[in-house]
Amino acid sequence: MLELRPNCECCDRDLPPATREAVICTFECTFCADCARDVLGGICPNCGGELVRRPIRPATALARNPASTERVFNPDCRRAAG
Ligand SMILES: [Zn+2]
Ligand SMILES: [Zn+2]
Repeated sequence: MLELRPNCECCDRDLPPATREAVICTFECTFCADCARDVLGGICPNCGGELVRRPIRPATALARNPASTERVFNPDCRRAAG
């Protein structure tokens, strides 16, 4: 099951489960749309895979299967992509 991480790994912006501004790679590395486009060029910096928009989990499903609250943040992301 998708983790639905709570933030962008690159800029630490909050990405609530209902946002359409979140993108993920196949390993669920999670970024905001701005970082994905402007910093990462649509490619996950961790695994080299493509980033696609994270699907919205419907509210009823979210109640049964809550989003992750574990923040993942990699401050080197922006520097590496420079
Ligand atoms: Zn970001
Ligand atoms: Zn990745």
